[in-house]
Amino acid sequence: MEPEPERRFRGRRALVTGAGRGIGRAAAAALRRAGAEVVALSRSAADLESLARECPGLEPLCVDLADWDATAAALARAGPVDLLVNNAAVALLQPFLDVTRDAFDRSFDVNLRAALQVSQIVARQLIARGAPGAIVNVSSQASQRALQGHTVYCCTKSALDMLTKMMALELGPHKIRVNAVNPTVVMTDMGRVNWSEPQKAGAMLSRIPLGRFAEVDEVVNSILFLLSDQSAMTTGALLPVDGGFLAS
Ligand code: NAP
Repeated sequence: MEPEPERRFRGRRALVTGAGRGIGRAAAAALRRAGAEVVALSRSAADLESLARECPGLEPLCVDLADWDATAAALARAGPVDLLVNNAAVALLQPFLDVTRDAFDRSFDVNLRAALQVSQIVARQLIARGAPGAIVNVSSQASQRALQGHTVYCCTKSALDMLTKMMALELGPHKIRVNAVNPTVVMTDMGRVNWSEPQKAGAMLSRIPLGRFAEVDEVVNSILFLLSDQSAMTTGALLPVDGGFLAS
């Protein structure tokens, strides 16, 4: 007989940004399997349509998070949310001397400003309803280590770590917990673009005590732990999912 599907998020409504591909897509699907109502937000409609076909009942929400006004309008249609995963990001790699204004602005708009804006909207609704909530920001090991060619990306993730702590500080009294996960390389589309070159990958692998990159599901498991009541006393934490990279 099939085992009972896990239903630990039954009765909770979750919003996952960047849910079209990679970690966000897997997190949205896992939350749906675990019984949550799921709003899956991303930029490309085709990705959301295929995800909605795979996950019956999932609600797609198509918007470019770099557009503040469009994001506010889309979130107004999302309904009340209990659990939020700020996952959408871009990784536009350039050597420090070649960093462009466009790459800087787009990276900070998507990786940091959108996380702040979406969290504000969700937190205001939670406070108005008097409901508890949990937010997970998907950061990176790159928030805490300088990586060649990653100036802007590293800076967005450092700022996201501090945003996580600030939100934990100010939203804690409202029973809203805020934590981050900080993965090492994961071979999603983003990971493949930036880490497929064997020499570059080898140099990174040699700095990871467990000697491998992370799997998508390993990141998703940590996200779900931080969203769940199993981590009820944890807020403001930055959880490495990095095989020990940040410890070394
Ligand atoms: P991915 O495969 O590139 O997927 C990113 C998703 O976010 C896509 O569906 C993308 O949609 C969406 N997105 C990007 N910009 C958006 C925007 N402006 N508005 C709405 N949606 C947008 O990335 P991933 O590897 O799954 O990464 C997910 C998170 O993990 C990111 O925060 C990333 O920084 C973090 N992370 C990744 C790695 C890694 O090695 N992969 C390591 C550490 C941390 P479109 O394709 O339509 O733009």
